[in-house]
Amino acid sequence: MRTEKYLVVNAGSSSLKFSLYEMPEQKELINIHVEKISLPDCFLTLKMDGNKIKKSKFIEDHAEAVKIVLQELIDNKLINSLDEIKGIGHRVLHGGEFYAESVKIDEEVIKNIESIIDLGPLHLPPAINVIRYLETIVSKDIPQVAVFDTSFHQSMPKENFLYPVPFEWYEKYGVRKYGFHGTSYRYITKVMQEKLAKEKLNLIVCHIGSGASIAAIKDSVCYNTTMGLTPLAGLMMGTRSGDIDPSIIEYICKKTNMTITETTNILNKQSGLKGICGKNDFRDVEELMIEGDNMAQLAFDMIKNTIIRFISQYYVELDGNVDAIVFTAGAGENDIDLRREVLNKLKPLGIIIDEKANDDIAKFRSKKSGIITTNDSKVAVYVEPTDEESIILMDTYTICQNI
Ligand code: ADP
Repeated sequence: MRTEKYLVVNAGSSSLKFSLYEMPEQKELINIHVEKISLPDCFLTLKMDGNKIKKSKFIEDHAEAVKIVLQELIDNKLINSLDEIKGIGHRVLHGGEFYAESVKIDEEVIKNIESIIDLGPLHLPPAINVIRYLETIVSKDIPQVAVFDTSFHQSMPKENFLYPVPFEWYEKYGVRKYGFHGTSYRYITKVMQEKLAKEKLNLIVCHIGSGASIAAIKDSVCYNTTMGLTPLAGLMMGTRSGDIDPSIIEYICKKTNMTITETTNILNKQSGLKGICGKNDFRDVEELMIEGDNMAQLAFDMIKNTIIRFISQYYVELDGNVDAIVFTAGAGENDIDLRREVLNKLKPLGIIIDEKANDDIAKFRSKKSGIITTNDSKVAVYVEPTDEESIILMDTYTICQNI
């Protein structure tokens, strides 16, 4: 089979990640991460052949970042010309109710994404800009594919995705729970189907990174999830509050004279772990805890409690019929203490932690994945590294092969 090259692109509000792959081997040839776009300390990091190079360079906007990154591919002799790229896959934050699956991008797809920009005001404009810019510089024959964070959750039943607000808010303005981290949940579901050799699985998957959410998966499709209209809802996170009483927003606006936008910004960027103890990274919080910092302990206990609350809720929603609970993403894969404390509290569900197995799984420990409960635990709990990029790559490859 002939080898073909595919690009995977992830445009953030001020960042851009590009990876070039050789298919069907799924071999990553280079990974380029541009950060702080439009800021004076903008830089790019290139990872290739196990080497890492950092270059400082002012980059005005996402279009210029794309131009520079593509030139890097040519300069590093990974491609001779852009025509060698056979397909481009984009991570797109929000697909609204339009897309339950990944799609080949055309004018209608862009129009649909544009129509829901208010649902992802920081992420959707740069994604559209990158898609539009690529359209102008690569041949029309090179398909671009959109892979949405929300697609996996489109299977949720109405009673789980609707908010108890006037129904016309849903009909007129699309106010509903959409859910995020969908590509991660799809990846974990696929891995667990293979591991357990079972097609229809009931899972509770805890994606605990700097952004964090949990999904209840029934018969291998999404049944419920913690994030909502936007990623602000659900669990307490590194910098996001998660669920709070909505009246807090008006109350704080009145007390501080801040606008709704400013207050919401604080709920997204200055809350969660950071709001309580000043640090948003689990590692920093736990270091402070070791030093006896009470606020760090409080922040840790609060985030732990929100995780326990949703696992328990979803366990009941799935009628106690759960094939596995899975921890994934940065903290889920590596935070031994967090997993131990969460699982110890889940004893009433018949979950029994295997302390030794839990201690062995993390980045610098002997294993990266496996079961962390004993044989007599009522539900097996797994740790599995997620790989959202491989889902974007495979969807893009499959769609391109079938055109
Ligand atoms: P995202 O993709 O949402 O930025 P990640 O999935 O990469 O996040 O997770 C990043 C978070 O994972 C970090 O903020 C940190 O809190 C947590 N994390 C990473 N490594 C560890 C570790 N060894 N112990 C505890 N937490 C960790």
